Amino acid sequence: MTQQVPTAGETNVASGEPLVRMAGVNKHFGDLHVLRDIDLEVAKGEVVVVLGPSGSGKSTLCRTINRLETYETGTITIDGEALPEEGAELAKLRADVGMVFQSFNLFAHKTILQNVTLGPIKVRKMSKADAEAHAMELLKRVGVEAQAEKYPAQLSGGQQQRVAIARSLAMKPKVMLFDEPTSALDPEMINEVLDVMAGLAKDGMTMIVVTHEMGFARRAADRVVFMADGQILEQQAPDEFFANPTSARAKDFLSKIL
Ligand code: ADP
Ligand code: MG
Repeated sequence: MTQQVPTAGETNVASGEPLVRMAGVNKHFGDLHVLRDIDLEVAKGEVVVVLGPSGSGKSTLCRTINRLETYETGTITIDGEALPEEGAELAKLRADVGMVFQSFNLFAHKTILQNVTLGPIKVRKMSKADAEAHAMELLKRVGVEAQAEKYPAQLSGGQQQRVAIARSLAMKPKVMLFDEPTSALDPEMINEVLDVMAGLAKDGMTMIVVTHEMGFARRAADRVVFMADGQILEQQAPDEFFANPTSARAKDFLSKIL
């Protein structure tokens, strides 16, 4: 958590321009209308925290941006380009759009260092030496450089999640998606992960973060997006949202968690 290395990859859009743009996006799972007319723009360098009750479509929203899910109508662009359908372009998209899940999903039979260098070598075509040097900088940045030669199972959950963040960063993503990254962690490990995320936010990484950590939303978010039943019901600055939620669903949600 000491070293400052650039984390975000080069983009086409200027600072303050939308890096992620969703317009009129609809998706069903069978009869379930899980994303309803989603319009969402996230500017380069912006940190958006997505809040909402369980089942409201937050994970599906993230997965759609990463094209882990398809959608039926609407458009999504990342850095001015439409989401690709398949093939090599999809691998590049997944590199440009980093994603950190609740479960850490590290490769169990690879060392921490190998976990972080694999993508850059395979997808970004970096040399092993360059990938390792960059990986060590990132592991230092998230505070786990001493664990580089260990295997995931030898690390705590908080350490593993920080490695998962470093692994995404190693691809020099344009935007990072976090889907409840601390929900599976023991309480004493939550802050070490949130601190890494807050550091990234401060350094200008564009981020979409689904979380129930309201303290993080207050301190790191530029904007809070509140979802319920597949719809975005509110979008406003965190202070404004927490002080004056306008929808009944948001008021109800906040009354249960605050
Ligand atoms: P959240 O992350 O806000 O809890 P999700 O995006 O995971 O919400 O899920 C939204 C709704 O879609 C829920 O009702 C969930 O059960 C349903 N759902 C999610 N994934 C699938 C799937 N692969 N197939 C069918 N239904 C799904
Ligand atoms: Mg979810």
